[in-house]
Amino acid sequence: MNAGRPHGNAKYHLEKCRCYQCCYAASEYDRNRRRAIAYGRWQPFIDAEPIRQYVHALGEFGIGWMRLARLSGVPRGSMSRLLYGDPTRGTAPSQRVRAKTALAILAVQPTLDNLGARARIDGTGTRRRLQALVAAGWTQSELARRIGVDSANFSRTITSDLLRAATVRAVNALYDELWRINPVEAGVPSHRAAAARQIATSRGWAPIGAWDDEQLDDPDAFPDWTGFCGTPQGRRAHYRARVPVCPPCSQAANQTAAA
Ligand SMILES: [Zn+2]
Ligand SMILES: [Zn+2]
Repeated sequence: MNAGRPHGNAKYHLEKCRCYQCCYAASEYDRNRRRAIAYGRWQPFIDAEPIRQYVHALGEFGIGWMRLARLSGVPRGSMSRLLYGDPTRGTAPSQRVRAKTALAILAVQPTLDNLGARARIDGTGTRRRLQALVAAGWTQSELARRIGVDSANFSRTITSDLLRAATVRAVNALYDELWRINPVEAGVPSHRAAAARQIATSRGWAPIGAWDDEQLDDPDAFPDWTGFCGTPQGRRAHYRARVPVCPPCSQAANQTAAA
């Protein structure tokens, strides 16, 4: 693993750090981008400096300027003049930039699809997806084979805090493909599927049904095992379903007892 990304906008988005410095940097980044977009909408040329700042901000996400040229459709020559000027003619970086060029650059955002394959990002959603598939009876070796990693790598993937963007993309695609398929019907021997489910139960890995899709990647979200998790009714629902009580349910029960 790399030595660690400094606190700032990229760490806010990629590792979901919510410290003051990261939150401040993220709001500055947003403000800069919005303002530049607003200017670009009603002026033919705009100040190049905020656009350069945006290009550098994307660099923190592992999106280099050549890749940005490809993603935005802005010719490399224009991109290079914007950033570095033209050394052969001795000109400095452009002071102003065509609004059309600026808007094309600003339209490129550091979404999961645009990140460099090796960029390290928060692994929360990936961990939950893999754990839920194991809870459904997909064996870890079968999942590893389908993502194309060896078993040592897979054990890291299913527990790591930070993962490569390429791994996150691969697991998202795999989950979308497998979540509604019965592993035994897909060829996983039934005793191995049962063993996988057993492992998930013993480690407290939440099943597919405990997650809303939009919560999978939210580090603050917790799985709803019972339909009542996090409420005062949750603990009893766990007993009825014979599922060990989850932390939000024991917390809710303690609060009710204390009140
Ligand atoms: Zn931070
Ligand atoms: Zn619960």
